Amino acid sequence: MYLKQGPIMKKIIFSLALLTLLSCQEERPHGNQYELPELTPNNYLIGNLNDNRSSYRVSFYDINIDFDIEKKSIDGYVTIKAESLIDLNSLQVDLAENLSIKKVTHKGDELSFSREYDAVLVDFNSTIKKDSIFDFTVFYQGIPQSADNPPWAGGFTWSKDKDGRDWIAVSCEGEGARIWWPNKDHITAEGDSVRMAYTVPSNMVAVGNGKLRSIVNNGDKSTYEWFVSNPINNYNISVQIGNYVAVQDTFIKGDKIHDMNHYVMDYNKELASNYFNQSKEVIRFYEKYFGDYQWYEDGYKLIEVPYLGMEHQSAVTYGNGFSIYNGVRSKSWPMYGVMDPLIIHETGHEWFGNSVTATDPTHIWIHEGLQVYSEAIYFEDKFKSYEVGVHYLNTLKNRIVNEIPIVGRENENHWALHGDTYMKGAWVMHTLRSVIKNDKIWFEILKEFMTENAKGFANTNDFFKKVYNKTGEDYWYFAQQYFYSPNQPELEYYQTDEEFYYRWNNVNDNFTMPLDLLVNGRELRVLPTKEYKSFKITKHSQIEVMDWKFYVQPKEITSN
Ligand SMILES: [Zn+2]
Repeated sequence: MYLKQGPIMKKIIFSLALLTLLSCQEERPHGNQYELPELTPNNYLIGNLNDNRSSYRVSFYDINIDFDIEKKSIDGYVTIKAESLIDLNSLQVDLAENLSIKKVTHKGDELSFSREYDAVLVDFNSTIKKDSIFDFTVFYQGIPQSADNPPWAGGFTWSKDKDGRDWIAVSCEGEGARIWWPNKDHITAEGDSVRMAYTVPSNMVAVGNGKLRSIVNNGDKSTYEWFVSNPINNYNISVQIGNYVAVQDTFIKGDKIHDMNHYVMDYNKELASNYFNQSKEVIRFYEKYFGDYQWYEDGYKLIEVPYLGMEHQSAVTYGNGFSIYNGVRSKSWPMYGVMDPLIIHETGHEWFGNSVTATDPTHIWIHEGLQVYSEAIYFEDKFKSYEVGVHYLNTLKNRIVNEIPIVGRENENHWALHGDTYMKGAWVMHTLRSVIKNDKIWFEILKEFMTENAKGFANTNDFFKKVYNKTGEDYWYFAQQYFYSPNQPELEYYQTDEEFYYRWNNVNDNFTMPLDLLVNGRELRVLPTKEYKSFKITKHSQIEVMDWKFYVQPKEITSN
């Protein structure tokens, strides 16, 4: 998901208010750490892989939904095929509490169930033995949550197209797929495959993820059947309903030709057929640096939507206005006139987030920080210029606020989608590259991390294990400073006629990061500590902290 710009301030103000409330009650390890979101009972049920959830693994979701567009309501059933990991008599499945459950069935029998917030505890009449494959079906209906500010405050967007016709889309990263269909709503609970059957008025088209299998017309309504044959995050499963037409294209790789059938409003067909060509360059770039696109069986497509866009797997949604300079987001997030910011960002998530998924949403810098960082690498590659990549990162730097750590608490359904996850996350990666100071190893780290964890899960610890394997250096102190503390290291320094003095401030005690200085134009690597160190200089030497390579704050100490 792209970073929100306006509403983030609301969250900061909220954090400030919480800090005022809570700062006296808890001792913080790093002084000015702000409070992370409060753990609500619902987030406890949803964020945690408790016994009723870890007891089974979902292998397949069969989603069937009939849309009543006038009433903005849905009526459907989802069959969940799963594997029991222990002998079980009951399990937890998740569905937003505002949606009503008509019944839950298993082998034709109705099962009893109880609900607590968004959790549904289903009781089976008999024990399902360990290692069994079983299924159950949840029949439900209701008016799903509308999106206040999609995709950041998600839900259904009930909109109209330019010709005044209905146009509907869903986005739910953070809110969870349970706001519109029942599932095991934990970030690690991906089905191996998913079937979606969306029934809509016959004059409209329903577009889902993956490939279109069939269209069945039943008079007033038509059912569009879509299929994803790969593991997919629940929040990536989507539906778009409108007067769509397909823009048929292909992506050629080696001797293989892959489907690239985009969906846009009928009046944008010609425009999109030219503009969406950019996505091929994006895919080639990501494959070069981060390994193969993982979803060729499901194709790749862009789908026009009435909100900014989202990284829905194999069905990336797009609402940036088809303009590199004047799109909704292009003005605030310019890309040197060479790329649509939405297309690169959301398509890049096919690698960061969709293929390699965080083990807990608190580690979501693996989706967003790496994504923004990869955009800097795109410019470095495109313009064959490290400096352009640095320039790009510099345009984002003033959005970093250093108020809460990038990684917060696990198991609390904390989607750490705040600004520092994006911007600081990117800067932390840039800094680590400068620390390692070996681009061959650095790019191997990135590519191997992505390919070894492809279609899998990883967290901050896994990333630094990879770094350790490749460099032989333990950079956990670096992770502790930059991911688990909100504090930006400061290099305090001053100079005399003969000597340059420097030390770290605002850092953890174990922070031992090397840093490069420019001493009269010559690079010098130093190893600051929290105690002053110094080296000899000539009178009036010019010394610069290379803060375009390291996320540190230079702080000159002047004598009074
Ligand atoms: Zn994103």
